[in-house]
Amino acid sequence: MEGSKIIKPWKLNSHRTLVFINASIIDPVEGQLIPNATVRISNGQITSVETNSTPSNASEEVIDLNGKYLCPGLIDCHVHIAVVPGEVDLRAYKDMTERKSLLRQPYVLKTMLSRGFTSIRDCGGASLAVKEAVEEGVLPGPRLFIAGFALSQTGGHGDMRGSHDEQFCCGGAISGISRIVDGAAECYKYAREELRQGADFIKIMGGGGVSSPTDRIEHVQFSDEEIKAIVTVAKNAGTYVTSHSYTPQAIQQAINLGVRGIEHGNLIDLETAKMMAEKGCFLTPTLIVHVMSKQMNFLPADGAAKNDEVLEKGLRAMKMAVDAGVTVCFGTDLLGPMHFAQSKEFSVRSQVLTAVQILRSATVNAARLLMQEERLGQVKQGFAADLLVLDKNPLEDITVLDRVEENVLGVIKDGRVMTSRWEKLTVDA
Ligand SMILES: [Zn+2]
Repeated sequence: MEGSKIIKPWKLNSHRTLVFINASIIDPVEGQLIPNATVRISNGQITSVETNSTPSNASEEVIDLNGKYLCPGLIDCHVHIAVVPGEVDLRAYKDMTERKSLLRQPYVLKTMLSRGFTSIRDCGGASLAVKEAVEEGVLPGPRLFIAGFALSQTGGHGDMRGSHDEQFCCGGAISGISRIVDGAAECYKYAREELRQGADFIKIMGGGGVSSPTDRIEHVQFSDEEIKAIVTVAKNAGTYVTSHSYTPQAIQQAINLGVRGIEHGNLIDLETAKMMAEKGCFLTPTLIVHVMSKQMNFLPADGAAKNDEVLEKGLRAMKMAVDAGVTVCFGTDLLGPMHFAQSKEFSVRSQVLTAVQILRSATVNAARLLMQEERLGQVKQGFAADLLVLDKNPLEDITVLDRVEENVLGVIKDGRVMTSRWEKLTVDA
């Protein structure tokens, strides 16, 4: 046995070299098909993409993709893997312990991967230990980019205490998927703590939210001074801040202070969208969570009323942002029992956006947000071999990605076949 396999017996076997022939590549950059392509993958990378078919040598494993499509792996830029299924509504999550959540997270990760999401950005709750377990092969799952705990002010979107809870919580205390921090000093300290504990970026609660008990959607949260402190910490460490913000006021405050990403943004106006486009900020709408929260009665009454307001405006807002030139990314924000609906975000978006706009949001745009645009989001030589084999063309109908069992025939992550619904594609052990 290989020495390192004694120490880490779960270590994955070395990569197969696979050659896909007669592939129709989905190119989200140009929004077109590249027909009759030959794509070689080895050592987890795409080593060549050729359009004049080349004979392969006998030792290579060839898979004929005639009539099928080869699509870049999908990226969901707003998930919470720590808010696992198993409880019926948000109230029940008050009793969710970290241990209980951790034992259920492998299920969440595996099912996301099988839907075609080869990378995810966790906006609060995921830990470095889980990210490393996926990287090392202990757990199958998408590549993780994590925020650690989101930072929230007292009484902000991350503070899950109700109005009658008189217990004070001290600086940096954890509440659900967030930490409570107040004042610039705590903002400096806990942004640095998150980075020390493996956060890839910093998430802040920069405005009111739907599921939080004591704030209102229109609230602006954190002072300029506090946001500036967090942005400084992130920039010094070569990364960025993204902010949970719904309203123009909250979005403008954040982006004027150097925040690079806006989550949700359902109530954005044209002036603010233009500002975001000018500054090169990223918007990650998350619409399916509002649709499912309503359908499944996930929220208590006060949350349900807030939910209706942002759902109605969210679709129009997303279209306005795309038209204004904002780089829009794909996000879902599903919690608890709603995770199964992840791919339905494609259908929701198709009400207002074109197929290629939606596909870009889940591939090239998302890769730029993750600062991985040289490695993820395209079927291109030198990129990571994160690929989907599809039965139908998503550039003609984006909702094929929503009908996973029929259309997502194979999911390849880092050069390994992780899911197969097609006899020609064998899963790597
Ligand atoms: Zn969220």
